[in-house]
Amino acid sequence: MSTRTVGIIGAGAAGTSAVKTLHTSEADVEIDLLARSGERPYNRTLVNKGVALGLLEPDQAALSVTDTRTSTDTVRSVNPQTREVHLASGKTRAYDALVIATGSRPRTLDETIIGRDQAVSAGQLTTLHSIADAVRVRNLLAGTHPTRVLILGGGLVASETASLLIEAGHDVALIARSLVPGATAIGEHVARRLLDLSQPQHATYLGRQPRAIRTHADRITIILDDGTHVEGDLAIVAHGTLAAAPAPWTGPEGIPVDGHLRALHAPRQRIYAAGGVAVHHYPGHSSYRIDHWEDSSAKGTTQRGPCCMTSP
Ligand SMILES: Cc1cc2nc3c(=O)[nH]c(=O)nc-3n(C[C@H](O)[C@H](O)[C@H](O)COP(=O)(O)OP(=O)(O)OC[C@H]3O[C@@H](n4cnc5c(N)ncnc54)[C@H](O)[C@@H]3O)c2cc1C
Repeated sequence: MSTRTVGIIGAGAAGTSAVKTLHTSEADVEIDLLARSGERPYNRTLVNKGVALGLLEPDQAALSVTDTRTSTDTVRSVNPQTREVHLASGKTRAYDALVIATGSRPRTLDETIIGRDQAVSAGQLTTLHSIADAVRVRNLLAGTHPTRVLILGGGLVASETASLLIEAGHDVALIARSLVPGATAIGEHVARRLLDLSQPQHATYLGRQPRAIRTHADRITIILDDGTHVEGDLAIVAHGTLAAAPAPWTGPEGIPVDGHLRALHAPRQRIYAAGGVAVHHYPGHSSYRIDHWEDSSAKGTTQRGPCCMTSP
């Protein structure tokens, strides 16, 4: 049997677990792992829990990928017809089957918020999604102690980051559009209980949204829609994620897949999507993405090898 090439785009939870599964289950498959330019594969869950707090160095969050041809060259586009991917360097790679495991990108603040871009350029407004974000936050936290950190968002990453920063001795204020942060993810009852437990530890501005941001030399002021001014040394946006994929799937909606993780818009092309980039759909229900580490790792193992990679 001739060797076939499986291209895997993205070296995070789903991509690295697809590599491990193919290595152990298929002898006649050559794996071509394509990671983002300038980026060593890493465990994203350690961005806020380890690196941002200075508990881990970026290298300590690295994922190990052994015995696999790995290129750090961002994939710009996929051509399902020719079975090729086009890389940022201008190179092209051919594949017999392709696993797209490019995960997600952070939602940013709305562009209509006055002063948003200035705050980002000054380094006082950031997302907390990548190792680069974590290093930026870590450096700012090292500047003053305690640092006054404004967290924008009411989801799990926002709440967890708030707790971690409080434990590390910083002053935290949480600004969320929701009146009960986390209610959509963990249910109203549990979310309300967590809110009751956390509220004495930090300031909360719930049911409100930022309207404008003023950047000063040493601090940032967020002006809320009810006119309240909230001041801090740093603001972190944790407004969830959107799918991130190369063309032709560059929109925020991700890659719709069937029950075997086959990309629906490239039928019979041996293209699969796993992890935070994949959009699932059950008849009668709305579409959804699952952006969690364990689920992404598990979905990465669904790439079963040539039996499914060679038949559409
Ligand atoms: C701060 C933070 C904390 C989190 N904590 C938890 C937690 O405690 N528990 C939990 O379950 N989940 C957590 N998550 C979510 C979890 O990290 C993700 O759900 C998981 O990493 C998704 O796996 P993935 O493989 O789909 O994407 P990722 O792990 O993000 O991997 C995708 C990879 O693809 C690369 N890539 C993207 N585009 C391209 C391209 N065009 N070419 C080449 N490479 C590309 C990316 O750079 C990245 O390395 C957290 C997320 C964040 C941001």
